[in-house]
Amino acid sequence: MLDARTISLVRAGFKSVLAAENGPEKLARSFYAQLFVEHPEFRFFFPASMDQQRDHFVRALAYVFDNLDKDERVVPFLEQLGRDHRKHGIDGSHFRAGGSALIAAFRNFVGNEVWTDEVESAWNDTLDLVCGSMADAADSDELPPYWGGTVVEHQRVLDDLAIVRLQLDASIPYFPGQYVSVQIPQRPKLWRYLSPAIPSNPQGEIEFHVRRVSGGWVSPAMVGETVVGDRWAVSPPLGGLAVDRAIPEDVLMIAGGTGLAPLRAQIMDMAHRSRNPRVHLFMSGVYPRDLYDAVTLWQLSLSNPWLTVVPVTEQYENPWWHSSPAIELPSGMHHRLQGQIGRVVTQFGSWADRQIQICGSPSMVRTTLYALRRVGTPMEHVQHDPL
Ligand SMILES: Cc1cc2nc3c(=O)[nH]c(=O)nc-3n(C[C@H](O)[C@H](O)[C@H](O)COP(=O)(O)OP(=O)(O)OC[C@H]3O[C@@H](n4cnc5c(N)ncnc54)[C@H](O)[C@@H]3O)c2cc1C
Repeated sequence: MLDARTISLVRAGFKSVLAAENGPEKLARSFYAQLFVEHPEFRFFFPASMDQQRDHFVRALAYVFDNLDKDERVVPFLEQLGRDHRKHGIDGSHFRAGGSALIAAFRNFVGNEVWTDEVESAWNDTLDLVCGSMADAADSDELPPYWGGTVVEHQRVLDDLAIVRLQLDASIPYFPGQYVSVQIPQRPKLWRYLSPAIPSNPQGEIEFHVRRVSGGWVSPAMVGETVVGDRWAVSPPLGGLAVDRAIPEDVLMIAGGTGLAPLRAQIMDMAHRSRNPRVHLFMSGVYPRDLYDAVTLWQLSLSNPWLTVVPVTEQYENPWWHSSPAIELPSGMHHRLQGQIGRVVTQFGSWADRQIQICGSPSMVRTTLYALRRVGTPMEHVQHDPL
């Protein structure tokens, strides 16, 4: 645990970085430059383009410095980050080298006048904690850094959406609702998070639903270039979206597009249990075509009376350029509601008596959170993955 003075010195220093013109980018550039000069072999761990890497680095630093006084938040975050980095070939010793590079970068940034002995000692103590937590978690993890898997099916359900099924070399012990990091042969070293759409099983079968993000580096290749036989790498599970069975509250699930995947995996897992809370699932998309998996969810609801599925779309009709075959909603299904998902859900009230999960694109999650907050939903009841 760091003392209040140390935390305030480090936060003040980082705040000066955020306030300076291009400050975060300059700090990140300087950090990686220091790291690669001291340890040229580290360059191999990173992709050719470092833009997104620098962005993630600054966002992670901001989260850590914001939460330095909350051990219960910062320590699990750092441990997860430490374990997750193993997929790049990084171990505990690399984190300590990273700590030294960050101190050097920060010192360069603020200049010698601000860099007093007290500031130096605050940064040393903080980075000992940060790098130590990451290094210990990375070195003590018993799971492999990643598993291999072979693509056995690539189904292009929409022009911009594919369902990809893999046969893993060994089963991955994830809980339904967790996500993993994936690397594909077409884009080496560019790992992306995906949420398995089925529960883990001993046969090592896994399914992902991937949406092509326009201008993205990896998702267009996952959707457009993947072929049966490709070898993917899949890292250990992360995240903790889950239905809390220890509390009596029923469940509200809100899915946007492929955000359905981790909710579907949980529902499929619940279908194997004899007792479940009631689950109300709103599955949404911009256009009717985005409800690509409505039939599966409808079938699940037929044999599981605790599950209600409500389809929602922002637009009533598919776009004129839509080229995939039309998806018909089953005739007995709840009729499709129209409107922006946050508004539609909150028309029914604040759902204050529910545990709530929201999954979708960052903008869908943000606008849904905003809508729920406006109607007074207790935010401590709401779970979502990191944005
Ligand atoms: C916890 C978690 C779970 C995820 N699960 C899934 C999943 O199951 N299926 C799936 O298809 N995707 C999922 N994603 C998103 C996925 O990890 C990638 O971010 C997405 O595929 C874009 O990668 P890219 O390389 O194509 O784009 P990038 O090159 O990384 O980014 C290009 C641009 O697109 C923006 N962008 C990134 N992601 C999105 C997004 N989801 N929607 C809109 N704009 C975006 C970026 O801000 C950037 O401006 C998940 C993300 C997280 C954090």
